[in-house]
Amino acid sequence: MFKVAPILAFTDNYIWLISNPDTKEAWVVDPGDAQPVLDKLAISGEELAGILITHHHPDHTGGIAKLLEHKNVPVYGPANDKIKEITNRVKEGDTVEAAGSSFKVIEIPGHTLDHIAFVYDNAENPAVFCGDTLFAGGCGRVFEGTAEQMHGSLSKLAALHKDTQVYCAHEYTQSNLYFAREVSPDEQAIRDRLSRTATKRRHSRPTVPTPLSIELETNPFLRCDDQDIKASIETHSGKTLPSPVEVFAEMREWKNNFVDP
Ligand code: ZN
Ligand code: FE
Repeated sequence: MFKVAPILAFTDNYIWLISNPDTKEAWVVDPGDAQPVLDKLAISGEELAGILITHHHPDHTGGIAKLLEHKNVPVYGPANDKIKEITNRVKEGDTVEAAGSSFKVIEIPGHTLDHIAFVYDNAENPAVFCGDTLFAGGCGRVFEGTAEQMHGSLSKLAALHKDTQVYCAHEYTQSNLYFAREVSPDEQAIRDRLSRTATKRRHSRPTVPTPLSIELETNPFLRCDDQDIKASIETHSGKTLPSPVEVFAEMREWKNNFVDP
């Protein structure tokens, strides 16, 4: 079984370090920057064994070249010419062996068209590395795909085992929960989560990973079919929104323009 540790990069990126305690081999997910990874490996005494990439954005790929100078390891990622260092291009249904465990690839377009996630669907300790698609309390912006694609991708993630630990790539939780509270002011579960999150952030502690069960309960972007959320988004947008995709699209639009209190 692997263990996972966060490596903070830039201001709010998490590069996830997946390591095998027996062999000391370490894989990194989305190394936007190489130096924090090299520093971490120097301290832990682990050996870089491979790189997993969820999508082509520079804050997820910028460190690959320098890591490969340090050690020539395989780079698994989506089929996209924009990431030239990828050695193993993977697609839906492929399996990647990393740190002694098997990760299944799923395609989750929307934030970008090439976006993939790596799923460890072991019944005891399931995990997903989902980049900028599902965030704790929120979701990524829809840059390249359509609202329909993003909603479909979030639904795919929501269908994973409810105990799945969600390893997203940014520390956006507090801001996301301010928005969730705005959408659902009467939801006590959101208020409770916001206060737990604020306490962690005051001590600069990560708020991720989070179990999918908590997301299903408090992340409005996974609850577009909820009648109260639909009513809230309809009131805010002044539109009738017959389908969950339309609710999602208007909610994402609202969040794009939402300023933290
Ligand atoms: Zn991104
Ligand atoms: Fe990002």
